[in-house]
Amino acid sequence: MASVGIAVDLASDTVTRPTADMRRFMCEAEVGDEQKFEDPTVNLLTEMVAELLGKEAAVFLPSGTMCNEIALRVHARPGEEVIAHRTAHPINFETGGPGALAGVNMRAIDGPRGQFDAAAVEAAIRPNSRYAPRTRLLWVEQTSNLGCGSVWPLARIEAVTAVARRHGLATHMDGARLLNAVVASGIAARDYAATFDSAWIDFTKGLGAPVGAALAGTRAFIDEAWRCKQQMGGAMRQAGIIAAGGVYALRHHVKRLAEDHANARRLAEGLAALPGVRLDPATIETNIVFFDLEGALTAPVAVERLLARGVRMGALGAHTIRAVTHLDVDADGIERTLAAAREVFTGHRA
Ligand SMILES: *Cc1c(COP(=O)(O)O)cnc(C)c1O
Repeated sequence: MASVGIAVDLASDTVTRPTADMRRFMCEAEVGDEQKFEDPTVNLLTEMVAELLGKEAAVFLPSGTMCNEIALRVHARPGEEVIAHRTAHPINFETGGPGALAGVNMRAIDGPRGQFDAAAVEAAIRPNSRYAPRTRLLWVEQTSNLGCGSVWPLARIEAVTAVARRHGLATHMDGARLLNAVVASGIAARDYAATFDSAWIDFTKGLGAPVGAALAGTRAFIDEAWRCKQQMGGAMRQAGIIAAGGVYALRHHVKRLAEDHANARRLAEGLAALPGVRLDPATIETNIVFFDLEGALTAPVAVERLLARGVRMGALGAHTIRAVTHLDVDADGIERTLAAAREVFTGHRA
């Protein structure tokens, strides 16, 4: 369905459109050939991200998916194994890329809210045996998307990466929404990233830029990442036009993520009060709201009825709905959403 008729789009924080000021800034960006390192705006953006994450270098890529897939290829050889939460993005949303592009096994482990603990990592590390895949990499998603936007506490990150290090594993952070964690917790991005060999942020989620993500690590890691970027067709030319969206977003759209978090909490409180909705608003830490339907109304039908009232959310399975706040949704949009939800959820029961 076209976006016509959608007044409040909570399907994802990827639906944001660049603001007028961001577009102007992009329009005026200085550019050059980025694959020759001659694009000053791309160079600026990668320096900003390396600094933000406390790493030696960074590379600008077309998407967060490419950041993940390249990281897998640089860290692991075919046949090796990566420990990640069962809900991790590359396991569920990258079209089998870990197997197809890096030839790695993804070892899915469990834990509440998209997170696992040090004991789970310890238990998943393979013995040194000719029969077993070699465990190579530990993977953390901050915030956890399918874990309801949960923020990994710094102590837990330090505990799981310490286990990895003790066993000689590399460590990677999928930081698609790292800055949501930063704003929610007050902990610096470089502190969250400190015990990871590689980490990246997405400009197209809550930050609201139209294209791109940046992957950071040691100089040697980024040199290898560049070889993959070139090979996969991710090396660009006058990419400063799009990188400027990232520069603008880092300057102007980080602090305001707090508004998205407040809107998500307000939404959760309103939804939790409706009959047939199972949701504990205390579990909403950032901009992602998951809730379950307990009655006969299924998620796909509820989502359709919300859409007919101008509100878009996503059905994840038969009984689960996801709503994500972002810079194109304001407090009025949340009230409108709750009015529509009241009709859909109470109407069905009446
Ligand atoms: C969106 C997302 C990605 C992929 O980013 P794209 O820029 O959409 O390719 C990776 N990991 C997580 C946790 C995400 O939410």
